[in-house]
Amino acid sequence: MSQHYAITMPQLSDTMTEGVVVTWEKQPGDRVERGDIVATVETDKAIMDVEVFKAGYLAGPLADVGATIAVGAALGYITDTAGDVAIAADEVVAEQAQTEMIPHHAGTPIVMPQLSDTMAEGVVVTWEKQPGDAIKRGDIVATVETDKAIMDVEVFQDGFLSGPIADVGSVVEVGHPMGFIVDDAAKANDTGVTISADHKVQDTHKVAPHAADKPAHIPMPKAAPAQVSAEGSQPPVGRPQGRQASPYARKVAGQLGVNLTGLAGTGPSGVIVAADVARARPSMQEVAHSLPQVDVPGQGRKMTSMEKAVAHAMTASLTLPTFNVTMNINTAALTAAAKAKKVSVTVAIAKACSVAMAKFPRMNWAYQPVDKLVERANHDFGVAVMSNDGGLVVPILHGIEKKPLEALQADWTGLVERARVRKLAPAEYSNPTFTISNMGMLGVSHFTAIPTPGIAAILAIAANGPHGTPFTITGDHRVLNGADVALYLATLKQTIEAPESWLGAGGAAAETVAGAAATTSAPVSPIPEGNWDFPVVVVGGGPGGEDCARDLADHGVKVMMVNNEPFPGGECLWRGCIPSKAWRAAADVIRNRAHDADMGVDGTNTPKLNWEQVEKHRRWVQTSRGEMALKADRGMKIDVREGYGEFVDAHTLKITPVEGEPYTVSFGAAVIATGAPAFVPPIPGARENLATGGVLTSDTIWNLAKPPKKLGIVGGGVIGVEMAQIFRDFGTEVLMLERHDRILAEVEEEIAKALIASLEKEITVVTSADIKEASGKPGKMKLRYSNKGGANKEDVESVFDCDVILMATGKRPDTSRLNLDKVGVELDGAAIKVDARCQTSVANIYAVGDVVGGYMLAHTAATQGRVAASNLLGHASEYDQDRDCGVTFSRPQAGFVGLSVAQAKAKGIDAVEAKMPMSIDAKAMITGETEGMIKLVADKATGRIIGVHYLADHTDTLIGIGVMMVAGEMTLTQVAKAIFPHPTQTELFGELARRLLNRLRRTAKK
Ligand SMILES: Cc1cc2nc3c(=O)[nH]c(=O)nc-3n(C[C@H](O)[C@H](O)[C@H](O)COP(=O)(O)OP(=O)(O)OC[C@H]3O[C@@H](n4cnc5c(N)ncnc54)[C@H](O)[C@@H]3O)c2cc1C
Repeated sequence: MSQHYAITMPQLSDTMTEGVVVTWEKQPGDRVERGDIVATVETDKAIMDVEVFKAGYLAGPLADVGATIAVGAALGYITDTAGDVAIAADEVVAEQAQTEMIPHHAGTPIVMPQLSDTMAEGVVVTWEKQPGDAIKRGDIVATVETDKAIMDVEVFQDGFLSGPIADVGSVVEVGHPMGFIVDDAAKANDTGVTISADHKVQDTHKVAPHAADKPAHIPMPKAAPAQVSAEGSQPPVGRPQGRQASPYARKVAGQLGVNLTGLAGTGPSGVIVAADVARARPSMQEVAHSLPQVDVPGQGRKMTSMEKAVAHAMTASLTLPTFNVTMNINTAALTAAAKAKKVSVTVAIAKACSVAMAKFPRMNWAYQPVDKLVERANHDFGVAVMSNDGGLVVPILHGIEKKPLEALQADWTGLVERARVRKLAPAEYSNPTFTISNMGMLGVSHFTAIPTPGIAAILAIAANGPHGTPFTITGDHRVLNGADVALYLATLKQTIEAPESWLGAGGAAAETVAGAAATTSAPVSPIPEGNWDFPVVVVGGGPGGEDCARDLADHGVKVMMVNNEPFPGGECLWRGCIPSKAWRAAADVIRNRAHDADMGVDGTNTPKLNWEQVEKHRRWVQTSRGEMALKADRGMKIDVREGYGEFVDAHTLKITPVEGEPYTVSFGAAVIATGAPAFVPPIPGARENLATGGVLTSDTIWNLAKPPKKLGIVGGGVIGVEMAQIFRDFGTEVLMLERHDRILAEVEEEIAKALIASLEKEITVVTSADIKEASGKPGKMKLRYSNKGGANKEDVESVFDCDVILMATGKRPDTSRLNLDKVGVELDGAAIKVDARCQTSVANIYAVGDVVGGYMLAHTAATQGRVAASNLLGHASEYDQDRDCGVTFSRPQAGFVGLSVAQAKAKGIDAVEAKMPMSIDAKAMITGETEGMIKLVADKATGRIIGVHYLADHTDTLIGIGVMMVAGEMTLTQVAKAIFPHPTQTELFGELARRLLNRLRRTAKK
């Protein structure tokens, strides 16, 4: 049976939706070979060739010359039967086709677009739609990686996505189908194929679309302009004598300066088409391949598209006769000025280069073959940036000569983010007029960079040394001579060393602090370059790890998060904040009913605990949130793995999954967020009874079959106090033992004192207790202890009989199985030692959350996770404990934001405070929630609010106001003037600010 294949209208530019048939270069019945031009079509930009990818015989019906055909629709057919000049209307078109994956009747092919002039193939990165999904004209259906960037694939037809679709990772030639569009959802097929690097189909299979796994759409830059662009003001060249050339070819020739005389035309009847003009100027690839090659022993692997493009450009640079000139420049003043103006040093240097170039415009010119100079006035500088996957990307800051620094900074911020993940649009990396490469931050003492055809000079900036920072320019001697470059560098030196002359006031002001900082380091991601499995791995999926991974993924960084639990959330979700607050919520309902009668509501004060329902509700909250978190993480393209992570070395993590063999992954940078388990001190019987369940911790209390009748709690910290009140409200008799002379040691003193007084009305608290032993079995435990309870303060030994004992004796990081010693990460006691940027003693390893000690709170961990992510993205960021906060979910609730007076004084701040009891607040009186107080702490010198402390019902809500006041650096005057609604407890903040202001005014007069 004969086989027929469709020749489809190729998509020759990103904006092309249809093409007009200009000529047929072969006639029906003609033999065609793979790669032959069978027709020419006119697109919205040029007349282009239609190449075929299959050998056979041209067969009709052919589209008429002049007919407008949609991209992807059939222009004609190729048959394998000689003499077959047309296929019959009812003939079946063969199942295999052009690229071994295309059944003709599969629908309209979505072809790999040609997105840059050097692009010959593309790698499928993502499918944004799944087979069967409805598609609208203009939708982005996939993203592909070209030799330069990751780009969108847009479709120009409504319909439904249908297979066979090329799997992610498939290497598809330009013009070949990656998938299809059908007009009827029922016709959509869900097969997939894998196309290997040699463009052969490796594997064909069915793919079941999973809506849930559908990757979130990431907005991408628009695709590249057409293959040959004739933008510019040059007039078209004249028609060559006795030859025909398409108008577009003449326009391109004018732009590129190509002489059409003697040029071979490949269009119909020898017409010169634009592609011929482009070929007259060899591409970097052709130049590179025309050079003699030296063979190398060994089995080479194929270069990636990006590696190839770089290799070609670098080889083509050998056509440039270059020389180097170096000058040392003191960058301190410019660095300080840039900081003062809040712009990156990179942007400031680029602007300085442009300012100096105004006097030496030749630096911005370029040699153009043959024997021409392009005198450019536009300063579009390429600035080299390390991409997250280790490659080098050179985004272009456009129009530097005319834009102010602030505008350039705004441009730069977006460019860098996209460059790091290689998502630049072609216009953002094509045709720089000058290039800057800064390796100062990598500590190199001197280097030269290679200019590529199209620029005359490249600037290489090394690390700051004793004589300043070496600035080396490599110039093209056809455009520049040594003196040009030397004079330019001398002017650049003046420009950089005296920024006030061109930066204005900010520059001058910055001069005064110039001596302080002397670095040319622009913000550069510290993720080391390398061919890693993952640029970043995060170990631990609690609040710290999850927030870190999400921020990184949000910025396009490929990140893996390994967590040794089935769902993310960590202690907070599964053993901490969430379950304890679910219990507290039930306990609150019971406790609150006691006030009902005071407010005139009888009959509600005998609430009954339904333990099964409490537990059902708690578990529902936990599982729902766990599932939501996992779905969100995966939706953000975090590679979430279940398993235990341990370090093999500073770039390798071993993962032991729950099932299956351990395996390793390589990484550029790692973030440790492994938390801190409950710590049980070596009290006789305490650790031994963990296994029986007679002794519990915050990890195991969730297994209780019912609330105990009698509960012994060892430890009077936040967790102990929260649990004591919860179980007291559930009807349990509680004894709390504390080793120190006061419980709630971490809570502000006055607040703690008031809370302890409340607590002691409800439960027995024994301080300065010496806990001797925990013994017995679940339901019959004995807690033996002594304290100075005798008449003459002598030691008295007591035994508390209880059902279970809770060891609420703190949490302690356990890093023993992480192999940190192999990596060199230093500890500070049990915690990992980090700086404010959350960086450990090993540069590419960060640590966040409970594992670094400090406040062991979920929001602290999450904040630190975001700080680590920010630093890994190259944006300097620090965790500031002085603005952190916390709530103790006691009744009333204690809370803090920022500093207490004592903490402030210890830091040398002259702090003052004012406090107001809740008992004078109208709303608190109405609701009978009059226990406690709110305190405002301010810096006397500046009036800035630096702390707020609470003991009040609803602290968990009221604390938000304190957080905003401290984080927003609000002053007492601002808060005093703010209008708070009446009657609400928030009125207290205005009152407090006014009171403190008045007090300060009175004392100032004395
Ligand atoms: C009873 C209780 C109540 C609490 N209430 C509050 C509260 O109300 N508010 C508040 O802010 N905080 C509260 N906390 C504290 C809060 O739970 C923690 O501060 C927070 O969970 C710490 O987050 P993290 O990301 O540092 O670590 P974790 O949440 O502990 O997460 C670490 C994760 O890493 C995993 N892991 C550990 N080692 C490895 C490894 N080698 N490989 C892979 N995975 C690993 C762990 O299984 C875990 O999933 C409470 C804690 C308890 C115990």
